[in-house]
Amino acid sequence: MRVAAATIEQVRAPLRVEELEIDEPRAGEALVRIVATGVCHTDAIAQEGDFPYPFPGVLGHEGAGVVEAVGDGVTNVAPGDPVVIGWPYCGTCRNCLEGQPRYCQDIGAQVGRGTRADGSTAWRRPDGTPVHSHFFGQSSFATHSITDAKTLVKMPPEMPLELVGPLACGLATGAGAVFNKLRPAIGSSLVVYGVGAVGLAAIMAARNSGATTIIAVDRHAARLKIAAELGATETVNVNEADPVDAVQQICGGPADYSLECTGNMDVLRQAADSVGLRGTCVLIGGAPADATFTLDHITTLWGKTIAGILGGEGTSDRLIGALARLHLDGRFPYDKLITPFSLDEVNDAIAASISGEVLKPVLRMPA
Ligand SMILES: [Zn+2]
Ligand SMILES: [Zn+2]
Repeated sequence: MRVAAATIEQVRAPLRVEELEIDEPRAGEALVRIVATGVCHTDAIAQEGDFPYPFPGVLGHEGAGVVEAVGDGVTNVAPGDPVVIGWPYCGTCRNCLEGQPRYCQDIGAQVGRGTRADGSTAWRRPDGTPVHSHFFGQSSFATHSITDAKTLVKMPPEMPLELVGPLACGLATGAGAVFNKLRPAIGSSLVVYGVGAVGLAAIMAARNSGATTIIAVDRHAARLKIAAELGATETVNVNEADPVDAVQQICGGPADYSLECTGNMDVLRQAADSVGLRGTCVLIGGAPADATFTLDHITTLWGKTIAGILGGEGTSDRLIGALARLHLDGRFPYDKLITPFSLDEVNDAIAASISGEVLKPVLRMPA
């Protein structure tokens, strides 16, 4: 079957929409017709060559759509089901078996190998040349995707499929850090450094918790305004105040929890310094592969926890399913962050994401 996909030929090349031939689903696989897909910073990082993925290939990893066909042995989804494509995982390693597939011991290959486990790609050019697929198990910058069926999360029929893709990665990362890891105690304080889509998801999640002080820190006034609309009780513009001092003043001491969503190592230090004895600082921002940071030894000894989190932890089924339900109940209004683009506008969408002009670009596929 012929499909349209935005391919990238080499590092830093612009994406180009072309026709490819796609496989029939094999055993355990599903063919998903993509309705829309979010654009995440990791797509841009991969385009820049800072994420291991072979070219030519197809990026995109926040796909949502409708199952068109399934291969042998697939029982969790059927043709016609509305789905979001979650992160890939092996299902047999220790971490997968313990319910933490985000930390699948094969995660590097699963997200970046660009092929199935046997080395085959899901699609090829009309002349037969293979094009790499399976970026995060899906390569969703395309009208169709071949995926491992067990990564699919069924959506309630009332959930709009043109909105739901971003729940698969960026928004799950921010919200999952709060729901799965921090689990803020009643009356606690939480500070979020960097309120792009990931940080705003954390703010919306915190608003669904017992935290009573929710601080947004950023350098863009427009983002801070949205953060306040979505649940931040205080905002700090780093152009106007030292954020660590501001947090101390607001909380009357250090905060209980901090989240670092920028991937900037100076900001990470501020986030770590914003929590005190028995405080928790969580790292979720995407940084360059060689980034390192230093901490003050004595204050870290004070029972401080510094934790990195991938993809919001937990399982896609539970996390994405809950976020969709919260959205339908008006408690996770992430649709306010979305700006739609067409597949042909994929390069504009990536540029708008990098510049911060758009919080969450979503590509809508041609019908
Ligand atoms: Zn695994
Ligand atoms: Zn992502």
